[in-house]
Order: sequence, then structure tokens, then C-alpha cells
Amino acid sequence: MNTESMRFDPAPGWRTLLLQWGRWRVLVGVTLFAVLASMGLTLLLLQALGRSQSIPVGLAIAGVVPLVIAPLVFNVLIKLVFEIESTRAALHRLATRDALTQTYNRGYFTERLDAEAVRALRTGQAMALLMIDADEFKSINDRYGHPVGDRVLQQIAQACQSSLRPYDLLARFGGEEFVVLLPETTLAQACEVAERVIAAVAGMKPDTLSVEPLRVTVSVGVAVLSSTDSGGTALLHRADAALYQAKRNGRNTWAC
Ligand code: GH3
Ligand code: MG
Ligand code: MG
Repeated sequence: MNTESMRFDPAPGWRTLLLQWGRWRVLVGVTLFAVLASMGLTLLLLQALGRSQSIPVGLAIAGVVPLVIAPLVFNVLIKLVFEIESTRAALHRLATRDALTQTYNRGYFTERLDAEAVRALRTGQAMALLMIDADEFKSINDRYGHPVGDRVLQQIAQACQSSLRPYDLLARFGGEEFVVLLPETTLAQACEVAERVIAAVAGMKPDTLSVEPLRVTVSVGVAVLSSTDSGGTALLHRADAALYQAKRNGRNTWAC
């Protein structure tokens, strides 16, 4: 499942670029740089000392020595950088993702929600939030067991993600509840997204271990940022209230 968010993932740093380049290419590049730097410096030094007759020998030595030593030393260093970088990437993923659905987790979501709300209030741009809750989910667990419930949650996450733009942020807020942050989105556009999410979930064919076909639906609460809000908390409360309204309206629907 592609749960990457273009807007919310950090921009790749130099270590990420190194990883993309690959260990052996980096090693060859660094060795070449060491050889050229050594030869260049030796040439300058011999010319400054007026030892032009020693230049061929000097350049040969200045080229061969780093050619032998640089791969040995840099191989160890580059290996360490690569190990640190892949551990850092794994830790970042563990700290920001939900283990079951691989969507973002609640902690990361609330952090980004506040930052995006402040930004939207400052720039005057619209921002919306969806709160999505699986309908009668307890009965799915009770009837088919927790492993089937878990698989259904993963599929709900996939269906939601497929209904979103790359820069929307989907997170598992808790239990069978998901939230979506929609930057630069008006109420009318957010309601359209809610409709897409509801249709995607209702139309999915749960691939579970159950013998009967499962009917899975979600209800969605829609809210937009108001100029009187001071952060994202009020928006969350309004989306939650709208979700309860959608449940009261009969489920498998949205309210705002
Ligand atoms: P409603 O339509 O009103 O939301 O009804 P509901 O049954 O979905 O709501 P309720 O809050 O009564 O039950 C939520 C259920 O979600 C109960 C809980 O066991 C289940 N649940 C929460 N987290 C998980 C999970 O990680 N895996 C599984 N399989 N079930 C979960
Ligand atoms: Mg529910
Ligand atoms: Mg719930």
C-alpha cells in the first residue's frame, strides 16, 4: 500500500541521497575524488617548490597511494553511514506509523494538524478534516474474530488512501477510527472526498478468511477550519460531532 504523503514526509537529506546512489557508487566517487585531490595538491606543491623534474614520479605516487588507501578507509566509513541512515529511516517509520495499517499514527497526525492549522490560518487557505469510523465493527469482530477484523481495518485504510490526493494525510486515530487532513480544501471539496471514501469502502471486496461475504461500511464526519480557530483541536472536535451526526443519520453516510 502506498501511504507515502508527498507533503508530510521530510525532504530527502544528503544521507538519503547517498542511500539512493548506492554504496559502491559512493565508494568509487569518493576514491576518485581522493585520487584527483591528492594529485592536484602534489602538482601545486612541486611547482611551488620548483621541483618540476619530480612531477611525473610525484604524481604517480600521489595517485597510487589514495587509490589503495581510500577504498579501505572509506569502505568502513560509508558502511557506517549507510547503517546509521537505514536505522534512522526505520526509527522514523516506527515512530510515525501505525503498525497494523501502516497509515500515520495519532501522535504524528496531531503534530502535523496543529502545524498545518497554524499555517492555514496565517495564509488564509482553506483546510478540512475527515473523521472516519467503521460501522458496527464490533459485530465483525464478534462474528468472524479479531484476525478478520484486523485484515478489514487494513483494507479500509487502503480504500481510504486510494480516495485521497498524494498530499492528504491519512492516520489511524484509534481502534476502528481514521482521520484525514485535507490541506487547501473547502467544505464542498471535503464532502466530495467523504463521498469517495464511503463509496470506496462500501465497494471493496474484503479479502478475509471468513466464509460469507462481508459488508463493511464507514461513516464520516466532515469539518473545516474556521478563522476563529486557534489550532487543530477545535477542528477535531467539530469533525467528531459531525461523525456522531452521520451515525445518527443511519451510518454509511457523511455529515458536516
Ligand atoms: P459504531 O457503528 O457505532 O461505530 O459501532 P462499532 O461497533 O464500530 O463501535 P464500538 O465502539 O462499539 O466498537 C468498536 C470495535 O472496534 C470494538 C473493538 O474491539 C474493535 N477494534 C478496535 N481496534 C481494533 C483492532 O485493532 N483490531 C480489531 N480487530 N478490532 C478492533
Ligand atoms: Mg465504529
Ligand atoms: Mg469508534
